[in-house]
Amino acid sequence: MVVDVEQGVVPTARAPEITSAITPAITPEITGSTPRREWPSPYALSPSSMGAFTTCPLAFRFSYVQRLPEPPSAAASRGTLVHRALERLHDRPATERSIEAALIDLAVAAAELESHPEFAGLELTDDEWGAFIDEAEQHVRRYFELEDPTLVRSIGLELKLEADLGSVRLRGIIDRLDLADDGGLIVTDYKTGSAPSERWEQKSLAGVHLYAVLCEQNFGVRPARVQLLYLSKPEAIVSIPTDSTVRGVEVKSAAVMKAVRTACDRNDFRPRPSNLCDWCSFKEFCPSFGGDPDIAHAVLADRASAAAGRPTLPLGLA
Ligand code: SF4
Repeated sequence: MVVDVEQGVVPTARAPEITSAITPAITPEITGSTPRREWPSPYALSPSSMGAFTTCPLAFRFSYVQRLPEPPSAAASRGTLVHRALERLHDRPATERSIEAALIDLAVAAAELESHPEFAGLELTDDEWGAFIDEAEQHVRRYFELEDPTLVRSIGLELKLEADLGSVRLRGIIDRLDLADDGGLIVTDYKTGSAPSERWEQKSLAGVHLYAVLCEQNFGVRPARVQLLYLSKPEAIVSIPTDSTVRGVEVKSAAVMKAVRTACDRNDFRPRPSNLCDWCSFKEFCPSFGGDPDIAHAVLADRASAAAGRPTLPLGLA
C-alpha cells in the first residue's frame, strides 16, 4: 500500500511517485561528494512530484531524483494510518461501514503498521503513541461527518493508474473511485493535513483533476466529479472535470516536465526559499541556508551506516 500523505505545508513524504532511471551514483552505496553534471530525467509525473518541483526544485531533486531518505514524521504517519483504516472500511460490504467498524479497522491498521519502519522510526513514548492514535481516531470520526459510507459504491481503492497525456507520462494513486447512482465516476482524495488555504486548495484540486485525467485515459470516461475530503476540519471540496481542467492538466504537466528535464540536463535545481523551508528535511544541505547539496547523499548514507552499526567512510573517499 502506498498512501498519498500530502500534508499541505510539508514537502510530501509520500512514497516517491516519479520512477526515475536512477544511475548508480545514487544507489545506497556511499558515492562521495563529487558534483554531478547531469541527472537522468524522470519518465513520469504525479501530483505529488509536480507539486514538489513547483514548490522548490532543489527539494524535488533531493526527494524525487536522488530519493534521499527523509526522517519519519508523525503527521505523515498519521495520514498513512487514517488512509489505511478508511481503505479497510470501504473494503467492507456497504451495510457494515459503521463508525464502530471504522474504529476496529483503525485498530487493525495500527497493529499492522506499528512495526513498519515509518512508525518505529517515530520512537514515540506510550503517551505519545496514545495521543497519535487519538488524533487518528478523530480524523476517522470526522470522516463520517462528510459522507455516509453505507451509500458509497466504491469500485477502486488505492488505485494505481498511469497514462500518457501529450508527451508526458502521468501516474498517480487514487484513494477511492466510486460509482454514482447515475453511473458516473467519482474520484475521492482524503486529506489529513490542515484545511487548505486558497493556494493549497488550488494545488490539491489540480492533483485530483490529474486523477480525473488518468481515469478518462484508462476507462474512456471522464469522472463526473472529483472531491477532496479534508478530515481535520472536516470539509469537502468538490469540483467538476471539464475540457478546461483537462487542458489545464495537459499544459501544466508538459511545462513541469520540460522544466524538470532541463533541470536534470543542466544539474540546475535551484532552491526556492519560502515559509515551507522550516518543514524541509534537507534544509542543512540547502545553499540558501549555508549547506552543500552535493554532500547530502554521502552524509545521509554515512548516518545510515552509523545507525546500522556499519563502518563508514570519510566524506569524499567513496
Ligand atoms: S530549505 Fe532549501 S531545499 Fe528545502 S524547501 Fe527551502 S529552499 Fe528548498
